[in-house]
Amino acid sequence: MDKINIEVSSNEKIDQKKLKFAQKIIIGLQQELKDYITDGSGPFLAAIYDSAGKLISKEANSVISSACSHNHAEMNAIRAAENKLGTYDLSIYNLKMYVTAEPCIMCLGGILWSGIKEIYYSVPSDLVEKITGFDEGFKPNWFNEFKKRGITVYGNIAVPEGIRVLKEYVKQGKTIYKPSKS
Ligand SMILES: [Zn+2]
Repeated sequence: MDKINIEVSSNEKIDQKKLKFAQKIIIGLQQELKDYITDGSGPFLAAIYDSAGKLISKEANSVISSACSHNHAEMNAIRAAENKLGTYDLSIYNLKMYVTAEPCIMCLGGILWSGIKEIYYSVPSDLVEKITGFDEGFKPNWFNEFKKRGITVYGNIAVPEGIRVLKEYVKQGKTIYKPSKS
C-alpha cells in the first residue's frame, strides 16, 4: 500500500497555488501528528487558516482523552476557531481547513454548519477504514453537495505519508475508539 499514488481530486478546477500551499501545510501536520499520538491523541490533526495564511486553530482528535465521541480533530478545530473569533459563523472570515484524513460523516456536518469555505484533506475514507477499522460513515456525493454550498474541496493530498502515520498508530496497538457491535 506504500506504493500507492492516488491523484488529487477536487470539486473545482485545480489551482496549483492552493494545492502547493495545502501540500506544505498537510505534510507539516502529518509530521506533528506523530507527537500528538505519542501524547495520547487519536490519529488525526486539523488546522484552520485564514485567507492571509495565518493559523487560527490547530487541534488533534481527543475522543479518548476527553471521553467524548464527537471530539474529532475537525470538530475540535472548528470549536477552537469559533471560541477564538467569538462567533458561530466563520463564513465572514473566509477560512480554510487542512486535515490529515477525509472528514467523516459527522465532521462534514460540522464543517457545513461552521461556514468554513475550503477543505483540504490527505487520506481518503476508504483507506482510513481499511487501515484502522474506523467507520467513516455514508457520504453520498459530498463533493457536489459542498460545491452547491460554495465550499471548495481538495482531497488525496500527500497520501503516502498520511498512510504511514495511520499504520504506525495501528502497529503501536493504540485504541480504535468506536461503538462496540455487541
Ligand atoms: Zn470526524
